[in-house]
Amino acid sequence: MNIHEYQGKELLAKFGAAIPAGYAALSVEEAVAGAKQLPGPLYVVKAQIHAGGRGKGKFKELGADAKGGVRLAKSLAEVEEHAREMLGNTLVTIQTGEHGKQVNRLYVTDGVDIAKEYYLSMLVDRKSGRIAIIVSTEGGIDIEEVAHSTPEKITTITIDPATGFQPHHGRAVAFALKLKGDLNKQAQILTRQIFDAFVAKDAAMLEINPLVESKDGKLLVLDTKMSFDSNALYRHPDVVELRDETEEDPAEIEASKYDLAYIKLDGDIGCMVNGAGLAMATMDIIKLNGMFPANFLDVGGGANKEKVTAAFKIILSDPAVKGILVNIFGGIMKCDIIAEGIVAAAKEVNLSVPLVVRLEGTNVDLGKQILEGSGLPIVSASDLGDAAKKIVAEVKKLQA
Ligand code: GDP
Ligand code: MG
Repeated sequence: MNIHEYQGKELLAKFGAAIPAGYAALSVEEAVAGAKQLPGPLYVVKAQIHAGGRGKGKFKELGADAKGGVRLAKSLAEVEEHAREMLGNTLVTIQTGEHGKQVNRLYVTDGVDIAKEYYLSMLVDRKSGRIAIIVSTEGGIDIEEVAHSTPEKITTITIDPATGFQPHHGRAVAFALKLKGDLNKQAQILTRQIFDAFVAKDAAMLEINPLVESKDGKLLVLDTKMSFDSNALYRHPDVVELRDETEEDPAEIEASKYDLAYIKLDGDIGCMVNGAGLAMATMDIIKLNGMFPANFLDVGGGANKEKVTAAFKIILSDPAVKGILVNIFGGIMKCDIIAEGIVAAAKEVNLSVPLVVRLEGTNVDLGKQILEGSGLPIVSASDLGDAAKKIVAEVKKLQA
């Protein structure tokens, strides 16, 4: 689960991290009211969307010369002007895809006089089995580009969970950032605070880009991107409250209600599969046959009629879907039960696209009989390769 920049900063501030003062706003009035509480004379108006690259982003509705989603303002009037221009409009950044994201919230912050920008992030590194801290003196700009062309400018420090955070970890971060004197001390303290927040809240990823040194010698968190391990959310009701469903794909929210693992993709073939491995293989084999999957969908082990129906509805809610491939292995859940679920669901949703079903496992013959006897135009397939060939052929037939 992802959260907004302002929520991440407020969370880190609770652990003592230094952040510029700021106020979140849902309207132009709130943005100005927030700015009035800041000292001025420099303010920053920041679009709050779950995507980075806002500063260099472009608003769809505004001209090519218009400013991006992070704007400096030198007066309350300018704050108002920026807020009016940004709210309700669609910001396109390198991370949003071409459709962009509508800006519904702003964050108005105290403008910082920046001396230098650094990069600091933390993530759960599965390879080392540790939390890794990644730092670079080259903050603010595209870190992927730094990693690609000057990897020596990126330092990774991992923390053994058995010992936890030790003072030498903080010193290693400050050293990698080439900080001296008081800034060096601030970096050590800040790293500890951020690490504590990361562990306490079961975060999966935290990126501070940039971490800045202000002209008056303070180390501040200027931007935050944070995501949490969804398997641990049950023990963090305070984090769950930060969820902003308007930032998520509506189909993915609907799927999560039925405990379906669904991810929307760009292709034409809707997939309904049980088991993540089988889902991956199904997607691969669709591609091998020349088309692309419209989604990843794992209905899980207990695929009953209700789940299958919900899955069908979600797949069909995507107008890009030209055909559906169901690939289910009946293990604990027998094939005849699944076939009944598919037939009932197909009738209920008024199936409008070709449907190919490949069933395998317990009671497979009975399952196939149910599909054949249903009177529905369901194409039965004998194996995975056959199923992919058939659905691609069916869709191409309609397109011809
Ligand atoms: P992002 O583009 O989504 O990563 O948004 P950021 O919050 O990182 O802001 C982008 C850039 O705007 C930063 O790298 C800074 O250069 C600039 N910026 C943001 N806040 C301030 C500020 O308070 N003062 C100044 N001078 N620049 C800022
Ligand atoms: Mg940033």
